[in-house]
Amino acid sequence: MTVWIETANCNGCKRCIKTCPYGAVELREGKAYILEHCTSCGACVEVCREKAVLTDAEPRTIPDFSDRKGVWVFAEQRNGSLNRVSLELLGKAQSLAADLGQEVSAVLLGSQVSGLAKTLFGYGADNVYLAQHRALKDYRTIAYTKVFEELVKEFKPNILLMGATHVGRDLGPRVSRRVGAGLTADCTELSIDPEEGILLQTRPAFGGNVMATIANRYSRPQMATVRPGIMEAVRKKNNRGNLIKCRVSLTEKEIGTKVLEAVRETRGKVNLAEAKVIVAGGRGVGSEAGMKALFSLAKAFGGEVAGTRIIVEEGWLPVERQVGQTGQSVRPEIYIACGISGAIQHRAGIMGSRYIIAINKDPGAPIFKVADWGIVGDLHQVVPEMTRAVSQSMGK
Ligand SMILES: Cc1cc2nc3c(=O)[nH]c(=O)nc-3n(C[C@H](O)[C@H](O)[C@H](O)COP(=O)(O)OP(=O)(O)OC[C@H]3O[C@@H](n4cnc5c(N)ncnc54)[C@H](O)[C@@H]3O)c2cc1C
Repeated sequence: MTVWIETANCNGCKRCIKTCPYGAVELREGKAYILEHCTSCGACVEVCREKAVLTDAEPRTIPDFSDRKGVWVFAEQRNGSLNRVSLELLGKAQSLAADLGQEVSAVLLGSQVSGLAKTLFGYGADNVYLAQHRALKDYRTIAYTKVFEELVKEFKPNILLMGATHVGRDLGPRVSRRVGAGLTADCTELSIDPEEGILLQTRPAFGGNVMATIANRYSRPQMATVRPGIMEAVRKKNNRGNLIKCRVSLTEKEIGTKVLEAVRETRGKVNLAEAKVIVAGGRGVGSEAGMKALFSLAKAFGGEVAGTRIIVEEGWLPVERQVGQTGQSVRPEIYIACGISGAIQHRAGIMGSRYIIAINKDPGAPIFKVADWGIVGDLHQVVPEMTRAVSQSMGK
């Protein structure tokens, strides 16, 4: 299969250049030019409006998805409490649905959980699909997958979002396989392509060194998981909506697993997701003992302490306090980065913060590019000084 340019038709718009995932198209004398390392994937052929990019391959036709409507969010609950990521996803779903002129729906599975529908309406769901059954009381892969598959096949959503939680990461791929759709895991940004009306799913790729935007033209629903703490929950003025009760048929025999016991972890809970102030340390803190000053500053603010992957690997903080691409995503009012260089993998977890304050002795540290305020200095002097000032003003 070959791809070539019909130069007489090319108007030099560069759409093919922007689309090519391999950087195999360039502009020469105002016309597109295919380079030798072209893989003939055909991405440029699809976007050309001038019929200037041609191929001898059979065109892949985009199916008619006009019957696919609505942005769905999996309303993950455990023991009758909603996981906050579901509310965050409803916030994002509202803007996606507005761009598409479609509705937002939450999908709530469980037993005796109908009371949660009101909260879901309050956070942006126009509809709640409620599937209740004894067998759905605790999350079990096969039971939830079966019910989800049936709902997707019956109601045909356009987009389906899940939290990248333990449950969402288990359920999402299962459902996507059953309904023959793709899934983009761990997205950090979602938007609608204004021209094609399809979901653009952005996530870190190649070890976090690039951000890749993935779109799905050929199957529905367009499925994505998003990590907790990245999107913003948005309250609606009222908490009214449409409750759609769905019929569920499940037998224990077909599920094949039983929950014998649920054991709660008893260690002190670190709640980075809801902290208003986070004081975070990086390698610049120097040692585990050095972290003490950060705990004092966090205490003065009534906040939490977090850190980079490096200091978790050093054993200066437990892993549940790691922020970033492979740690948690946070969105506090204030994020104070102490001795953190600002690597892309760390920044991936902090960009939802309202204000970022960076303390670093290197004025060229990348963290200053994303900080609202920067203090160039030694954190061992700055942090105690800050703690004194904050304690005094809090006292007043
Ligand atoms: C696949 C992958 C996933 C990753 N996931 C994560 C992740 O989830 N989270 C994460 O954080 N990282 C992650 N990383 C690692 C990331 O690439 C960086 O290596 C890491 O974030 C750097 O941590 P740091 O800023 O603490 O250390 P460094 O990059 O070493 O920076 C230390 C900073 O401290 C400053 N400093 C030194 N002494 C002082 C002082 N006395 N006062 C003030 N400043 C001082 C220095 O100027 C420097 O800027 C990941 C990497 C990969 C490849």
